[in-house]
Amino acid sequence: MQGEECPAAPGRSCHSKTRGGYIDRSGMVGAIEIKRCETCGHGVSFPAIPDVAFLYEGRQSQDFQPDARNWLSKWIKDIAFRFQAKRLLKDIGSFEGRLLDFGCGSGQFTRVLDETADNLDVTGCDFFAEPPAELRYQSYIGHDELALAKDLYDGALAMHVLEHDDDTRALLDRITSPVKPGGLVVVEVPNVDCVWGDIFGRYWDAWYVPYHRHHFSQISLRAVLKAQGLKVEAIRGVTAPTMGRTLANLFGCKNSVFWIMVGITLHPLQLAGEVLTRRRTALRAVCRKIA
Ligand SMILES: [Zn+2]
Repeated sequence: MQGEECPAAPGRSCHSKTRGGYIDRSGMVGAIEIKRCETCGHGVSFPAIPDVAFLYEGRQSQDFQPDARNWLSKWIKDIAFRFQAKRLLKDIGSFEGRLLDFGCGSGQFTRVLDETADNLDVTGCDFFAEPPAELRYQSYIGHDELALAKDLYDGALAMHVLEHDDDTRALLDRITSPVKPGGLVVVEVPNVDCVWGDIFGRYWDAWYVPYHRHHFSQISLRAVLKAQGLKVEAIRGVTAPTMGRTLANLFGCKNSVFWIMVGITLHPLQLAGEVLTRRRTALRAVCRKIA
């Protein structure tokens, strides 16, 4: 919320202070800094990147699960995604119909969700005109085509998408405009206040810069969703396995089956720490699009 009214201090702009230098995980940007507001907690990555498309060319970022190209890690992730899909279905209750998975990345979660839910027809969506390998036999729509789709879907998911663009409002427009009035909008982002962020510092997996442009707190997430005209029904904390990748970062390694196994082993500890401190990995907002 750099230069804007602070959602935690109406009438004043965010009071942002630098948190220092972070690791450039793309190798394409150089020195990266994160500034956080001392009042609402919202963080912003610098320098600004008005068009982030170059970061995702070739689908090499971890958003496309490059580590899941090995059959064993793909199999493990399928199981983890099935758990996450079931929990998500619980959160959205009796929802049924056509669901858009905006920013579907590798498409693995999209496919698993579609297979897990009988009453949903899930369509993946991303930058590219061609679907990822996972969605070869599933529904998929590219961003250019999606721009023409208005009020077409009963709901949209944006799982770990909103933090990927400098212009949050324009991105939220793209996510919500294909949804019918009254439709469901689910937005999940990393929680800037997650307990492991303090413990692991810049190695914590969610400080995934330059890819992550915004770092939301519960207050700042609620504020941007409300400013978009969405009715926020609930925001809850979610634990997602991040320990393996965080430790891989700490030891300067690429994520691999070994680190996935380390993450699984430590998952009970990760979960316990987050439940006890009530500072979870991610924030999941369930919203309705007002007509
Ligand atoms: Zn603020």
